[in-house]
Amino acid sequence: MNCSSRLLCALYVATSAGLAWTSVLTFRFGPLWAACLFAAASVVPVIAVVRETVIADQRRWLLELVARARRGDDAAEAIVRAELDSACCERWWTSLGSEHDVTCRHGMPRSSSAA
Ligand SMILES: [Zn+2]
Repeated sequence: MNCSSRLLCALYVATSAGLAWTSVLTFRFGPLWAACLFAAASVVPVIAVVRETVIADQRRWLLELVARARRGDDAAEAIVRAELDSACCERWWTSLGSEHDVTCRHGMPRSSSAA
């Protein structure tokens, strides 16, 4: 996570805390519907923090691929290797994830799947 991402996350957390505090104050002294609205709005910046961390993970993964490419490893080969490692079994791969091999640990017996 770079400096601007950390700054954004700090702003998101501060905004969420401010909205949560406003929700508490509105719950005590204001209409209930407004308190619910502020409570719901205080969750939105938390979602933004999660999104920032996902973007940081993707950026780190991309930098790793670039580093591999510079070392001489083929980036496309690394992507294909990662995809193949995440695949379950050959039948799963060829059936677009709808079926498994009989020997696959994720597969179900045919008799129960046909019933
Ligand atoms: Zn499988």
